[in-house]
Amino acid sequence: MSTEIVRYRYRAYPTGKQVRLFARLFGATRVAYNDAVAYCRAEHAAGRGFPTDVQTIVLTHAKKTPQRAWFNEVYGVCLVQAVGDARTAYRNFFDSLTGKRRGRKVSAPVFKSRHHNRHTARFSTAARFSVTIDGRTGTLHLPKMYGPLRFTASRDLPSTPTSVTLVQEPDGRYYVSFVVQRPTRTTGPRGAVAGIDVGLSSYAHVLTRTTQPGDLTATETVVETVTTIATPAYLRRKERALRRSQRALSRTTKGSRNRAKARVRVARLHRKVREARLDHAHQHAARLVAAHDMIAVETLHTAPMARNRRTAKAVHDQAMSQFLRVLEHKAASQGTPLVKVARTYPSTQTCSTCTHITGPRGLTGLSVRRWTCTHCGTHHDRDINAATNILNEGLRLLTHNPESPMDSRRHKTLAEVRQTPSPAQSPTKQEEPQEIRSHATPT
Ligand SMILES: [Zn+2]
Repeated sequence: MSTEIVRYRYRAYPTGKQVRLFARLFGATRVAYNDAVAYCRAEHAAGRGFPTDVQTIVLTHAKKTPQRAWFNEVYGVCLVQAVGDARTAYRNFFDSLTGKRRGRKVSAPVFKSRHHNRHTARFSTAARFSVTIDGRTGTLHLPKMYGPLRFTASRDLPSTPTSVTLVQEPDGRYYVSFVVQRPTRTTGPRGAVAGIDVGLSSYAHVLTRTTQPGDLTATETVVETVTTIATPAYLRRKERALRRSQRALSRTTKGSRNRAKARVRVARLHRKVREARLDHAHQHAARLVAAHDMIAVETLHTAPMARNRRTAKAVHDQAMSQFLRVLEHKAASQGTPLVKVARTYPSTQTCSTCTHITGPRGLTGLSVRRWTCTHCGTHHDRDINAATNILNEGLRLLTHNPESPMDSRRHKTLAEVRQTPSPAQSPTKQEEPQEIRSHATPT
């Protein structure tokens, strides 16, 4: 039976004494992390290679000095984890620099600020923690923690956790996040495939096509349905409130008490929007993965948008890429092929009936909702046509398993696709959704 590693997170309610203990702990892990980054930087600046003695220098030796003697007062395990995180971050940067690590360039780890939004401290099993869940009440036991830490157990843990992270969010709330192992859920064939067109303004359009179980491209009895996933009203309301509070924050005087209050308000709304958005993404992704044997999506190009993340378009794009990340993760964990169609593939312009490129193009094409193919005369709804093309292209890529998945311009008809029944692995890659990963290890 295959298993997957996941995080389970619960809201925690520390006592006054524990709050003060955690504040010291968060401070120490931050300083240890920064010391490790500083040491790696200095070694690099001195022309030496990747240091192997980070922990000895930053913890073992430092603890004997008066400046870092206070490290002895907190959980050493968390400091070791923090130094390990810094080392990993530096290793990634170093490997990226020397070309050993492929893909996008990794920048050097930066110092964590005291005003850093999220505070974390991670405990490995070496900390000898234990967890008990009794109904809705969870308790985390750690030595020298002034009693157990209580948390709301919204669901049971599937296994004994291998690590626990204490988290304090920018709005002041505390959480415990456990790393656990759970069996991968598997299901039989569902007899349907889907193509997803993520909208320019709406959330997404999903085209579902029924298939013969075991044969994804069989089209004898085709039933196609289109569902639109909309951004829920409550989420839009929250996003508006967040934008308002951000404007209010920018109007306050620097260093004033009102600014501090406004910052907490913004942080709280940020969290609410993030949670609502992630929840929405999870619900729809789960439903899609449960109902389909294969899902085709278009890859998004969102990196340049990060520069002006305040615009409504950027927020929307960010939500879209988050949705696709969650979907990818869910699909991978259940073994459902998720095929990514290259962004260069003209899903909007191609006629899904005759595959001629006759659809709306360019900037004027953006406003066209419906159009008629000049080649075969079919009337098209823009979104449905795009979702159909993405599905067809996804099926083609899946059945052909081409060496170059970017070569998706050459379009084949479904009849051609059916002639080559080679079951192929999907090019999915396991990746945890970022929201879940973000409070695990600093990257
Ligand atoms: Zn046509």
